Amino acid sequence: MKQEIQHNEKMKTLGQLAASIAHEVRNPLTVVKGFLQMMRPHEQGKNAQYLEIALGELERTEAIINDYLYFAKPKLTKIESFSLSDMLQNVTTLFMPMATNNGVLLSSNLQGDIMIHTDRGQLQQALFNIIKNAVEATPSDGEVLLHLTGHDQHAQIVVMDNGKGMTKEQVSRIGTLFFTTKEVGTGIGTALAVRIIQSMNGVITYESEPGAGTKVTIKVPYQVVA
Ligand code: ADP
Ligand code: MG
Repeated sequence: MKQEIQHNEKMKTLGQLAASIAHEVRNPLTVVKGFLQMMRPHEQGKNAQYLEIALGELERTEAIINDYLYFAKPKLTKIESFSLSDMLQNVTTLFMPMATNNGVLLSSNLQGDIMIHTDRGQLQQALFNIIKNAVEATPSDGEVLLHLTGHDQHAQIVVMDNGKGMTKEQVSRIGTLFFTTKEVGTGIGTALAVRIIQSMNGVITYESEPGAGTKVTIKVPYQVVA
């Protein structure tokens, strides 16, 4: 099953609105979490139980916000030239602890010196969300491979995993806000990634087979304005 992912205008506006709200809400949440954590050692019985519930819900909220905002600043786009090879190397390093904890072999094969001109934070957010899903879909002893190559008009990034894969129906829902198959999923990560790649005039394609794994191909023009 191979499908190029599209999204509609309504979703784009929704996504932008949600991203700016997330940005505003993040700091006060961090403060609330900090105070609840300080209360932990001093509470017992029912209060201790309530604290754990509150902290758990805060963590869920944080997960939603991280899918939006791990790197990206909403709206304020900063277009610059940077090395895509270095960026992917950095993102790989970020995921090393998570991959190692899950017994997943994460490796990258990156053609060096690929420079690109676009919004660095947004692109990194998109790649982060896609790679995170790949690592999450892959069982212990599985592999995630990142591949970067330069072509005439565009750079190509392939994120390949041999994890659980998706059905045809699931692939068709990729890019739809709030589609998730995970117990604590947000269904935001891919919707945002698709929106970002398309805003850069890029193309994102998912190929997936249940039980065999998923291959995500991202093509981004070298000169793009988000
Ligand atoms: P979340 O990760 O919070 O569920 P996402 O928008 O990031 O939300 O992903 C939506 C859904 O797409 C996931 O729940 C999963 O079912 C599916 N998905 C995305 N990437 C992969 C992948 N590499 N392998 C298998 N399923 C995937
Ligand atoms: Mg995700």
